[in-house]
Amino acid sequence: MVRIAPTPSGYLHLGNAANFAANALLAAGGRLLLRIDDLDRARFRPEYLQDVFDVLHWLEIEWTDGPRDATDFQAHWSQEYRMPLYREALDRLSASERIFACPCSRRELADGTHVHGCLKREVDMISGGIAWRMDTRGTALHDTMPWFAVRKKDGRPSYQLACTVDDQYYGIRACARGADLLPSTEAQALVSDLLGYAPLRERIRFVHHPLLTEGGEKISKSRGARSVREWGVSSEEVFGIAREWIAAATP
Ligand SMILES: [Zn+2]
Repeated sequence: MVRIAPTPSGYLHLGNAANFAANALLAAGGRLLLRIDDLDRARFRPEYLQDVFDVLHWLEIEWTDGPRDATDFQAHWSQEYRMPLYREALDRLSASERIFACPCSRRELADGTHVHGCLKREVDMISGGIAWRMDTRGTALHDTMPWFAVRKKDGRPSYQLACTVDDQYYGIRACARGADLLPSTEAQALVSDLLGYAPLRERIRFVHHPLLTEGGEKISKSRGARSVREWGVSSEEVFGIAREWIAAATP
């Protein structure tokens, strides 16, 4: 199974569409899951959800698994329905020596000294308003993504936790994602190991592709709502970009 995993937190841009195409190519006619990651309810908007389907239809991508439309998504496929899976995974992680409870503010976190005795496990795991974080010391991740959260301060699972659990749950075997997510892949490999899953990099073939730029700047969803019809490219051109990415990544 290959997955297309957009987040409905803004209108999609050309880079997102090329990512969809890359995943469709990796699926090569096999099973392709549409998994819409909607944990971030604060940024969720129905029009962003609909935009995901509009872009997929424009690209003429046929997915085999996942919601057929926005209504089906809300009724059956929201990540909210998999909350018991995430909670069970967090329960298991809470016993790990690498996971610690941390009430640190953003500023305290940047300092990294964990003044509340977090690293000495002096903070109760079940107290309110605390995050559960990964002790990344001794790993390559410590330079790029130290102390990443598996559970957020509001008690909800983090993106890294949910993504790792979902990839295991759906039996994902290949995934194209932006090169900006390389540290996330490493973080998820760590979470995967702690959960006792098979090694992430062995079970999933990752293609980390470059990010498209526009006038030298990274294109981001937050830069505005330009619908697919305003991109000024054809779906064939989008698939052309995706093909180049995969060719460059294949040894
Ligand atoms: Zn701390």
